[in-house]
Amino acid sequence: MTARLVLGLAITVAAFVVAGRRVFMLYRLARAGQPAEPGRTADVGTRLWTVATEVFGQRKLLKWTVPGAAHFAVFWGFVILGATIVEGFGALFQRDFHLPLIGTQAWLGFLEDLFIVAVLAGLVVFAVIRLMQNPRREGRRSRFFGSHLGPAWLVLFMIFNVMWTLLLYRGAQINTGNFPFPHGAFASQAAARVLAPLGKTANNVLETVGILLALGVVLTFLVIVVYSKHLHIFLAPLNVATSRRPHALGPLLPVYSGGKPVDFEDPDEDDKFGRGAIEDFTWKGMLDFGTCTECGRCQSQCPAWNTGKPLSPKLLIMGLRDHALAKAPYLLAGSDDERAALPEAVRAEADRPLVGDAEAGGVIDPDVLWSCVTCGACVEQCPVDIEHVDHVVDMRRYQVLIESAFPKEAGTMLRNLERAGDPWGRGARARLEWTAGLPFEVPVVDGELPADVEYLFWVGCAGALDDRAKRTTRAVAELLHEAGVRYAVLGSGETCTGDPARRIGQEFLFQELAKQNVETLNTAGAKKIVVTCAHCFNAIANEYPQLGGHYEVVHHTQLLSRLVAERRLVPVHPVDAAVTYHDPCYLGRHNRVFSPPREILGSVPGVRLTEMPRNRETSFCCGAGGARMWMEESIGTRINETRTDEALGTGAEVVTAACPYCIVMLTDGLNTRKQQGAAAEEIEVTDLSALLLRSVRGTGDPDGPASA
Ligand code: SF4
Ligand code: SF4
Repeated sequence: MTARLVLGLAITVAAFVVAGRRVFMLYRLARAGQPAEPGRTADVGTRLWTVATEVFGQRKLLKWTVPGAAHFAVFWGFVILGATIVEGFGALFQRDFHLPLIGTQAWLGFLEDLFIVAVLAGLVVFAVIRLMQNPRREGRRSRFFGSHLGPAWLVLFMIFNVMWTLLLYRGAQINTGNFPFPHGAFASQAAARVLAPLGKTANNVLETVGILLALGVVLTFLVIVVYSKHLHIFLAPLNVATSRRPHALGPLLPVYSGGKPVDFEDPDEDDKFGRGAIEDFTWKGMLDFGTCTECGRCQSQCPAWNTGKPLSPKLLIMGLRDHALAKAPYLLAGSDDERAALPEAVRAEADRPLVGDAEAGGVIDPDVLWSCVTCGACVEQCPVDIEHVDHVVDMRRYQVLIESAFPKEAGTMLRNLERAGDPWGRGARARLEWTAGLPFEVPVVDGELPADVEYLFWVGCAGALDDRAKRTTRAVAELLHEAGVRYAVLGSGETCTGDPARRIGQEFLFQELAKQNVETLNTAGAKKIVVTCAHCFNAIANEYPQLGGHYEVVHHTQLLSRLVAERRLVPVHPVDAAVTYHDPCYLGRHNRVFSPPREILGSVPGVRLTEMPRNRETSFCCGAGGARMWMEESIGTRINETRTDEALGTGAEVVTAACPYCIVMLTDGLNTRKQQGAAAEEIEVTDLSALLLRSVRGTGDPDGPASA
């Protein structure tokens, strides 16, 4: 007993010292980051509920049924089998130790053994998944491509070791009469039957060896965990608890520096405009990097990665984490002398630019940074609530605002926004051209909205200036007119919402445009706004409140589906067509508007809706978000063509969407396929409002008479 106690305590102290040093270093590293914006710890009740559902309920993980179930078993195994570790430590002091009150109850013995078996089964599933998705064979298609494979296998092996050593000492304990559970522990009893023929003396030895082995493996595992990606075991609850609520989708945060938003009209001298070095990230950013499990769920959904671009959200986060850890001694050094005395490799790491190409030693390649379409598929999938889009845009902000470094094609768009207030540079006078030929007058706001006007119809740059989007604007205008909805437009008073400027990182320009629009809308007394563009919808509804603009914003699909439900619009004429619907990222994933578009299609007689394999939360971007609409796509295959192929794969004759960006991208994709002879000439891409108008009017023209 004495040897058992001394050895057990010695390995415990050693492990806690080694692990504790690492944990303290990680804590100091997180503290080296900037303060986060306020509110990360507010609303404790909601945050606890999120931890309960996402960490303990494994909500996001269970969306992937097989790996989710395996992870559920292993996670809960860790929780339940915590009791066996306490029992093992107790047995160092007292051979027949048991937990107070419940320590001899059959149900506890059963539960512990059940989870030993469940964890072993989970390990088999994990091993099979890893073998099936071996990146050496599957290449980029594997979600584990780029993950640290050796450490992952080591951790699986360590968990296996924990399980068999538990069975060893519990089986031996039964044979020596020191096991706390007379009944219930079925797997331990099976182990005891195997060990019984060895005799009592051998079982006495095996009991001690088993306990020391089990504790030794657990303590070694503890050290491995804090030195590896399995740090997520401890960090995940913390990261989920402090994540953006309800999720890191929808609005972008303003530029924060030192825990407060930067005032662009009167910035402080030491304000940081985005993230230009790893220490510019907040402690939450550092926590994100440390929490990544390298599971690759984000990578598997990323449209950039899936079309051959160098961007993988997983590799981006891993790259930032590895750099933060390698630079840590430099960041944590107390003085210049200490920094000068650091090994050359550490000082070289500290000199690496955060964003730069391989030759410059950059941590993140510019092609990686500019490939992101901010679709949010990564954020949606991440089981530990990492906020990839915020980090991408924060790095873009520094590149644009401080380095003036961004893809040159986007420069034209930014100049047009500054000069003319729209990405095409057409100017305010062109904003009412879409109304020409309508059989009724579209009221234009002059000062305040008249009292009888219910909705301000926000047309948007594309809706006013792009020929394809103008058809949607006219269809919606006609439908609202048909339903007797009183609305008015701003006409030349409208300017770009600033969405493309914000997503490319030009926050200063975004704020200029947004403030101008907020002033216009507030002067008009706008309360309810209807928009046809998913990006305008997101900006006005979610981002304008940051600048004092508070409105009830509806997307046209929401308003039209309500008008159909109220029978103010009655689609009676059949539209005999096979149809599919593409969820725009900024309508669906970012703002959870999934049902209204489908309700509209469901209301049109004759429409046969077939969903694409990737729909709703898992929809695949059209390629236009994140200001990518105005950048060349020269690496890999084109995102819009990949999505068009998926739409064509449903057999659709009409591909519908509900955002002008998507319409443009999918139309381009379809035209390419038509030129290649891969799509029939009759197939069309259209906003679903055009289908609704056709059914309401029965004109036979899918775009309605207004588009003629
Ligand atoms: S937002 Fe979309 S494109 Fe950007 S990293 Fe995430 S999944 Fe990839
Ligand atoms: S960022 Fe999230 S989804 Fe992506 S690999 Fe890391 S843990 Fe998995």
